[in-house]
Amino acid sequence: MSLRVRFAPSPTGALHIGGARTALFNWLLARGSGGQLVLRIEDTDRERSTDENVAQILDALDWLGIDYDEGPIFQAERAERHREMLQRLLDDGHAYRSNATADDVKAFKAEHGGRGFRGEPEADGAVRLRVPDDGATVVHDVIRGDTRFEHVHLDDPVIARADGSVLYNFAVAIDDLDAGITHVVRGEDHLSNTPKQLLVLEALGAEPPTYAHLPLLHGPDGKKLSKRHGAASVQELRDAGYLPEAVRNYIALLGWSLDDSTTIMSDAEMIAGFDLARVSKSAAVFDEQKLRWLNGRYLRELPPAELAARLEALLGRGGLEQAAELAQEKMQTLAEFWPLAGFLVERQPYDEKAWAKVMRDGARDDLAAARDAIAAAEPFDVETVEAALRGVVEARGVKPRAVFQPLRVAISGSTISPGIFESVVALGRDETLARVDDALARA
Ligand code: GLU
Repeated sequence: MSLRVRFAPSPTGALHIGGARTALFNWLLARGSGGQLVLRIEDTDRERSTDENVAQILDALDWLGIDYDEGPIFQAERAERHREMLQRLLDDGHAYRSNATADDVKAFKAEHGGRGFRGEPEADGAVRLRVPDDGATVVHDVIRGDTRFEHVHLDDPVIARADGSVLYNFAVAIDDLDAGITHVVRGEDHLSNTPKQLLVLEALGAEPPTYAHLPLLHGPDGKKLSKRHGAASVQELRDAGYLPEAVRNYIALLGWSLDDSTTIMSDAEMIAGFDLARVSKSAAVFDEQKLRWLNGRYLRELPPAELAARLEALLGRGGLEQAAELAQEKMQTLAEFWPLAGFLVERQPYDEKAWAKVMRDGARDDLAAARDAIAAAEPFDVETVEAALRGVVEARGVKPRAVFQPLRVAISGSTISPGIFESVVALGRDETLARVDDALARA
């Protein structure tokens, strides 16, 4: 039987990094085994599930390059089937109706030395699943080994409300069963749900899938990953100018690695090498600085035309190829492009702090000398412009930065830019001189 996995996001918000990691690991498993990935949208929380969130999740998966073979299956649309299976359990006595309240459950426990609640069948009320009195439900987890849940401590769980609408753990068990899921791979926060789902499957006489609960995600400070640690959703990573291939690669490393030394992996390497047995039990750390570094590596590998296309898509404007090529070495994210090299595309206002720092003492004279050298450089190419400007440094007996920094502020408005000679040539003589003249008039 071929492997069938699923990704089952709840559309109560955007796709977060943890969810993206779950999706990716399932995708790697499916693609590495010739199996199938089923997408199930768990939209039974009607208040918090929105079409907009569904669209965002689908869009984020698409951006990450995670495709699926079946679905999306909407859990809410399966209510009829859930009721049918619920009725089956009621009919054969594996479940019963009960009006027991939370207080009744408490009282029962107090009376029975803390043991799990067992109710008496009633004519109406919510539906509870019967948990066997003895024994234990053991979750066999590929990553975490066995976790035993002693029945004596488990309350008969409520699996449906009095109106017959089923609860989450019941729906998940039925949906996994109907979809023929062989491996349930999801976040560790779901481990406590697993015994309930196993008990449902057991009551139905169904074979349970194999389970694997992925380690929690922490920030670099060792605390549970949250907004404080930077971008939290895939959409935010995209807006911040990360490349999907770099995000995919980095997310793959959250709790798994090919071996102890490989950081950069192609899709093919990840797919071929992914192995649940190598997923770690301990929390994985999401460190945005590492993602930035990795993203920079991916950015530098892009052919300039491709880099320009990505920038053009992010910024919604064309004509960026030359500036992109110049900025490529210095960028770690696409979002860094505009502050770094936007001045090559259109004139930027002066950064007053940079101006105040650079334009003092003899800066105006140095800039004026640089202007004359640029005006005379022939041919107007990087080599000649560099020689001309270095000649100014030498003739004036100053440090290179005394000439280059005022020039940089004059053309870019700030003290950061790609290489100064390349920038001057990319701007062209006329535009460079116009900007230098304005700066000289202001200095
Ligand atoms: N819908 C759950 C979530 O978004 C996942 C449930 C599961 O994978 O079983 O956390």
